[in-house]
Amino acid sequence: MRYDAIVLGLGGMGSAVAAHAAARGMRVLGLEQFDPAHALGSSHGATRIIRQAYFESPAYVPLLRRAYELWDALAERTRTTLRVQTGGLFVGRPQTPIVAGTIASARQWELAHDVYDARELRERWPMLTPLPDEIGVFEAVAGAVFPEAGVRAHLDVAAAEGAGLRFRTPVRGWDAGDDGVRVTLADGSHVEGERLAICAGPWFAKIAPDVGLPLTIERNVQFWFAPRDSAAMRLSAVPIYGVERPGARMFYGFPDFGDGAKVAHHGSGVTADPDALDRTVRDDEIAAVRAALDAFVPAANGPFLRAAVCMYSNTPDEHFAIGAHPRQPRVVVAGGFSGHGYKFTPVVGNSSPRCSRRTGRDSRSISSHRTGSSSASRARGKAADRPFPSARPMLDAWIPLRRPTRRASLPPPSRTSARRSCRASSVRARRCFRSRCSTAAICRSRAARCWCADRSSSR
Ligand SMILES: Cc1cc2nc3c(=O)[nH]c(=O)nc-3n(C[C@H](O)[C@H](O)[C@H](O)COP(=O)(O)OP(=O)(O)OC[C@H]3O[C@@H](n4cnc5c(N)ncnc54)[C@H](O)[C@@H]3O)c2cc1C
Repeated sequence: MRYDAIVLGLGGMGSAVAAHAAARGMRVLGLEQFDPAHALGSSHGATRIIRQAYFESPAYVPLLRRAYELWDALAERTRTTLRVQTGGLFVGRPQTPIVAGTIASARQWELAHDVYDARELRERWPMLTPLPDEIGVFEAVAGAVFPEAGVRAHLDVAAAEGAGLRFRTPVRGWDAGDDGVRVTLADGSHVEGERLAICAGPWFAKIAPDVGLPLTIERNVQFWFAPRDSAAMRLSAVPIYGVERPGARMFYGFPDFGDGAKVAHHGSGVTADPDALDRTVRDDEIAAVRAALDAFVPAANGPFLRAAVCMYSNTPDEHFAIGAHPRQPRVVVAGGFSGHGYKFTPVVGNSSPRCSRRTGRDSRSISSHRTGSSSASRARGKAADRPFPSARPMLDAWIPLRRPTRRASLPPPSRTSARRSCRASSVRARRCFRSRCSTAAICRSRAARCWCADRSSSR
């Protein structure tokens, strides 16, 4: 069988790409080297932070609004809980990138947020210990998404929409030409299709070295502790939080979702080979995270429960690398999610990239989204301004496929949320005249357009 699309890697991104491509009527084959929702890549560890006020760059905000809609649509369709709104709090000195960047992003997009001084923070969240010169920015819509559940939900949708999903099936290589793509599996057999989407996470550079994406794979550990004060760390009491102090790595954590209070440092500086990752967690790593807990949220610092090693795939500017392969127009890539990509998985899936049939596209079609300076990079002492192939904003390279053969079957967002999204996201709104559209206006911005624009039936 010749497939319309072959998806290489069924982790966070690939499962979403497979689901949305299949829901648009494409014949999809997904290939994954491990089991479904495995714990060997970048999409495991029970929780990921989701938020809209984005210190990394305000340019992500339209994508985040869309991500919220798509997470909720996926949850509704699969009848699972995929997102919980706990509120999110970022603390540090006023000029600290995670604080200043979050406030700037919230102001630019008029996102609801509150800023507290240290005294107010201690009053509202007595389990936290901010320093006297620190402030905090709180966003009520922030919270957690659940990566293993999200991967499973996307795989369920892909399978229900007719995609072929093959696990324990490593891909050894691939070729692309004018006639299509040919993927070679580890057992020497081949599969063929019209297009290939490479969503290989930390293995990206191994399976697509010719893209030349300068990725650094970073080992990062997630820790769970039984709270010393369980009432203080319960879901209704404490939001997801992050704190950044001079000379220290950013530290973040979650309320207790029933399996302990999860905490981690954002970035370790330890590089890794995904095929030889050290998954043993040392006592000094536990001690380092305990010290951070004692300094900011001592209520969580009870008995150590467990840890899970995970990997970031960092680009030099820590923005994503998605778009058309520089020389193979039938191949699209989605990689380099730099430790903040999970919340975007449904957006990446929904905006399945157009594979231009034009040839000779240069490396700038690998679009690193650097429409703003990366405060996270600066915070972590990385080279945000190092030269990196980058040109058009991510959305320009990441255009929805235009050839669905049947109605997309994920449910549309509610009339209210679609209206809110259109109104809030663009001043250049126009009336939507599509007969089946439930919204009053449609944004010209690709990120924030109403749901009907993704459907051929309404075109
Ligand atoms: C500790 C930690 C905390 C994080 N916190 C957050 C957060 O709070 N919020 C957030 O939004 N993001 C967060 N992230 C980032 C986010 O989890 C990642 O950006 C995202 O999960 C990356 O998804 P992916 O699909 O690129 O990679 P993966 O999910 O690893 O998927 C890649 C898949 O490709 C498969 N594959 C690779 N090569 C082959 C091959 N040759 N053949 C077959 N299959 C192959 C792999 O087995 C894997 O399943 C965090 C990441 C880590 C590690």
